Amino acid sequence: MGKTLHPGPQKKAKMPAPEHWVSPIPFGLGKIKPKHIRDTMKIAWDNRDNIGYATNIITKGVCDGCALGVSGLYDQTLEGPHVCTTRMNVLRLNTMPAIKPEILHADIDELRKYDSTELRKLGRIPYPMIRRKGERKFSRINWDEAMDLIADKMKKLNPKQYSFYLTARGITNESYYVAAKVARFLGTNHIDNASRICHAPSKTALKRSIGVGASTSNYLDWIGTDVLLFWGSVASNASPVSSKYMLEAKKKGTKIIVVNPYREPAMDKYWIPSNPESALFGTKIADDFYQVNIGGDIAFMHGIMKHWFAMEEKDYGSAINHEFVQEHVNGYEELKSKVQEQSWDEIIESSGVSKERIIELAELLANSKNAVYAWALGLTMHSFATDNISQVANLALLRGHLGRKHAGLMPFRGHSSVQGSGEMGADPFVLPGGGWDAKNVERMEQIWGFELPRWQGDIVGVTLENIVLPEDHERKVKLYYLSGGNFLETMPDPDFIAHALSELEIRVHQDIILNTSTLVDAKEAVIVLPAKTRYEQEDGGTSTSTERMVYFSPEIPGNKNKIEEARAEWKIYIDLAKRVKPETAHLVDFADGFDIREEIAKANPDYEGIQHLKKQGDVFQWGGAWLCEDGICPTPDGRGSLIPVDIPDLNKKPEQFVVTSRRGKQFNSMVYKEVDPLNGAGRYDVLMSPVDGQKLSIAEGEGIVVYNGFGVFQGTAKFVDIAPGNIEVHFPEGNFLLPRGRYEKFAGIPDYNITVNVEKAERYNARKDTQYVEKPIADLETEVS
Ligand code: SF4
Repeated sequence: MGKTLHPGPQKKAKMPAPEHWVSPIPFGLGKIKPKHIRDTMKIAWDNRDNIGYATNIITKGVCDGCALGVSGLYDQTLEGPHVCTTRMNVLRLNTMPAIKPEILHADIDELRKYDSTELRKLGRIPYPMIRRKGERKFSRINWDEAMDLIADKMKKLNPKQYSFYLTARGITNESYYVAAKVARFLGTNHIDNASRICHAPSKTALKRSIGVGASTSNYLDWIGTDVLLFWGSVASNASPVSSKYMLEAKKKGTKIIVVNPYREPAMDKYWIPSNPESALFGTKIADDFYQVNIGGDIAFMHGIMKHWFAMEEKDYGSAINHEFVQEHVNGYEELKSKVQEQSWDEIIESSGVSKERIIELAELLANSKNAVYAWALGLTMHSFATDNISQVANLALLRGHLGRKHAGLMPFRGHSSVQGSGEMGADPFVLPGGGWDAKNVERMEQIWGFELPRWQGDIVGVTLENIVLPEDHERKVKLYYLSGGNFLETMPDPDFIAHALSELEIRVHQDIILNTSTLVDAKEAVIVLPAKTRYEQEDGGTSTSTERMVYFSPEIPGNKNKIEEARAEWKIYIDLAKRVKPETAHLVDFADGFDIREEIAKANPDYEGIQHLKKQGDVFQWGGAWLCEDGICPTPDGRGSLIPVDIPDLNKKPEQFVVTSRRGKQFNSMVYKEVDPLNGAGRYDVLMSPVDGQKLSIAEGEGIVVYNGFGVFQGTAKFVDIAPGNIEVHFPEGNFLLPRGRYEKFAGIPDYNITVNVEKAERYNARKDTQYVEKPIADLETEVS
């Protein structure tokens, strides 16, 4: 039987639906909300020197703002225009001129006075540059000099001693693919990408539960499903146009449920700029919130299933879809006994949600023919993230909510193109078209025509730690080749990261802009290479959206602020290969972008069809409308697996809190507004429950200290509707509270949650002084030595 194909964009409901309005008072007057029209006017003003090109990017390019995916102004879900302020905010990266030379070549300490937001606004990197050991300024070099320096170093190193990393700032599938191929050609498997610090566990969990590591459904499935669940996701903030689909879903009777510690304002009420009705009156998004503890999701889902099994005892078939389970699922009895082992006391304590409330959701799902389960970083950034997500898959498999219209599992991805990074092989555990197993390695050796290094590459976090290994260690990383990214602002323990980056002999930053990590010293040299944006890449480029749509973005001419020396990223990797191994570099050479797409179609059979994408608007969806269609999973026996998982122990003492980080008005670590327009929170506000404030005698707006054995965060108390015992700080400001080296065991994502103490600032500081004074001298001496 053939796969069902996506039907393409559908018509929107014509009738307004006042029952979903936030208020009949237009434009949310008097409410804290984003000012979309004002922001858009400002962005147009910022782009006024290149307005024709900016307009062409918006109307012809594939958005580089998020992973929702849109080509020009039109998407594959709903008819009508599609644009948002996230897209507008990243627009300037593509249209701005070069950094002024007097700033670019100033003393490094002058550049270090800028933060990453200010550095971004300085403009683009105009030409290759170098800053050698002891030099105070970047100096201009030509491409040959820069590439020879990198290649000469690589020739001297064991390939286990250099590492590649690609972030997700609009990088195309073509660049990921060529980087993945060149890294292996050079002899290293140390290549990783930004999904390692966002959604890697979604892939490992879905692979083990249903055999495929991608969203099984489409946004269209939201519209008319019975229940749309968002787990640890602020979809309306991360991908603003998704709120348009949510409104359509609500008009079709879909119930939207959010599971999150914080009642995120953007999932409560939103004003959708591209929908006149919503822009005027707002949209009430969530029908219900379940404010689960940070790290309490597994217990919460055990509670749902525990009630399902209780329902089954009374009335067989009232909760479990037995027909689906019998035909398509393994592990039923094992999961059932694991769930039944859990006591309600444990479930309630870990989840922080009452039994009655858990039962409410259990019954809603039991009575729903269809549901779509979407999740994001609230589930993935934990040391038990793969278990979190397999537990979501357990719910879907028990109910048969998989592989058909209005039912499925959807990791809600963040960045445009991040889905494609692993699928192209820029990942130490995979190659295009499969995993790092002998069969796939041999298959890729046939296609690529060279032998692949037969050792396991390291994840990004480990490669960074390996920089400080002893000098003679085989895996001591001495050269890091970065395509974008800023580890100082994305990884735990930023102080260690700063030290590690400075211990590298050579660090290469292939990028569009400078960031704070570009300015860190290196033992021999920091080399900066100017990259083209996706809109400048010769022969265009493709990116894969959350729903597996592979969109073609054409090369867009007419940039008035063209960076003459910038190069397409895939071309730079080939140039590198030619310099390191000239005799055989023809094996990794490509004539043009079309040539790369031809090879991708062979290397990753899911991408059959990419070679036909040639002009603006061209798109195809890999895998068809639904993965696991009709319940048949791409596993050896065609069945999904129920995975029994344990409730994690967070080692939290009763007086402690668990902290997680959230994003405000920002794009990963790129901050666009110091105050979040959705809740009025500043970057150093600590979101906490007024219940906890009262317990600790902390007043709103008071200085507080969040600390643990790893770091101290000085902030201000902001009372919000969050589950007591949980607090949130902004990412990346709160990363100082996180130690390095805590990785999820299957996917290697660092854990971004931790237990902390919270105190009034004045009390903390007074106590600290007292303790210091009272410390015996001998102890102090021991510490100093
Ligand atoms: S929702 Fe995402 S894909 Fe759509 S315009 Fe906004 S940033 Fe771009």
